[in-house]
Amino acid sequence: MAEGGEDIQALIAALARLPGLGPRSARRVVLSLIGRKPGQMAQLATLMSRVAETARACTRCGNISEAEICAICTDPARQTGELCVVEHVADLWALERGRAFRGRYHVLGGTLSALDDISPEDLGIPRLLARIGPEQVTEIILALNATVEGQTTAHYIADALPDGLTVTGLAQGVPIGGELDYLDDGTITAALRARRRF
Ligand code: ZN
Repeated sequence: MAEGGEDIQALIAALARLPGLGPRSARRVVLSLIGRKPGQMAQLATLMSRVAETARACTRCGNISEAEICAICTDPARQTGELCVVEHVADLWALERGRAFRGRYHVLGGTLSALDDISPEDLGIPRLLARIGPEQVTEIILALNATVEGQTTAHYIADALPDGLTVTGLAQGVPIGGELDYLDDGTITAALRARRRF
């Protein structure tokens, strides 16, 4: 076989299916790993199998962590009454990189879609509503992507929330059709600071 052996081919094929890679990058990654100091690839393999064992969704907010309840949910300094709703864990991590938000999160894991048969229950919306009382939430920030699906989901949640809560959305800076994870940290921070009533 021209490109390594069967295992090497299988590794390249597996990496090529990952987001942001593809066959060409996968080949480069594998060749570079094989060419490096012995031990580096084994270390990577060990880390991957450890993370595969320990990584899980926080049962409260949906953030990926190594504990049943993540560090954000258990941090008493973050009991600010502000709850930021995001589509994906990558969005939560993008907001955290901006360091502007000191409240807590709720990760939906997607958006409502009749086409793909994704219901409010699938997105943990009842679980979100159930957090409001016990966690003394006063403001819900709907930090969903500026896509049709994101905004449809935001409106659905806004309608389902009890009266008396402040409901806000991200302000300017999020381009139409924009996905939060692709914004730079400064833009996402500015959009959060200048949030408007929903
Ligand atoms: Zn959490």
